[in-house]
Amino acid sequence: MQVRFLGTGTSQGIPMIACSCEVCASQDTRDQRLRVSMHIQVQGKSFIIDTGPDFRQQILRAGIKRVDAVLFTHEHKDHTAGLDDIRGFNFAQQSAIPLYARAQVIEQLKREFAYAFDENKYPGVPEIDVYEIDGQPFSVQGVQVTPIFVKHYFLDVLGFRFGDFTYITDANFIADEELEKIKGSKILVINALRKTTHISHFTLDEALAVIAQVQPEQAYITHISHMMGLHDSVQQELPPNVFLAYDGLSLSL
Ligand SMILES: [Zn+2]
Ligand SMILES: [Zn+2]
Ligand SMILES: [Zn+2]
Repeated sequence: MQVRFLGTGTSQGIPMIACSCEVCASQDTRDQRLRVSMHIQVQGKSFIIDTGPDFRQQILRAGIKRVDAVLFTHEHKDHTAGLDDIRGFNFAQQSAIPLYARAQVIEQLKREFAYAFDENKYPGVPEIDVYEIDGQPFSVQGVQVTPIFVKHYFLDVLGFRFGDFTYITDANFIADEELEKIKGSKILVINALRKTTHISHFTLDEALAVIAQVQPEQAYITHISHMMGLHDSVQQELPPNVFLAYDGLSLSL
């Protein structure tokens, strides 16, 4: 399995519009973060988790030529806004692209991309096949995935476990029974926004506490705000098996 971070930034990305803080002004490419998304290659399949506003740029930058399915964590715009550009894969693959999401996410997609769900579709709109998922393990194009329910303030969000790899974003609480589903992962990706408290995202310390409970071999932090600090200096404060993710980082397992 090969996983690649297509984006590691919070909803506004880094640099943030009209901000001149040292992180937004940093020339270190690891401080330049598009909105969160992940590319997962497993068993010969190519999956994308979330299609945020930077989807097109991310696909081009990573040179991804095929997508077998898209999995959605939740309905927030920074995770869905780029879906229209799935059209490129419709043309290239001459087929609809399967989407996997919870019912309330599907409802939101139907509102935001109503034209893609019309009975009588205009030519050239995204061609998608929607599959509803919930708390039960499911198969995506023959690949087994375990969903992990996490809380994002009052919103339910899905994390996904593929074998030894677990991806969690936009959480600020994980129930014990869901933590059990993560245990045994070799690599855990988990969100942390910044060091100070936030209503709907883990802080760095809260994410480190989850990592200490799960005890993966390695953990990677994503969905990072400019308020977290410079990549290089924050990395030096972390335990030896914990890393700030950065755009373009690729891992094999
Ligand atoms: Zn988000
Ligand atoms: Zn800034
Ligand atoms: Zn969110």
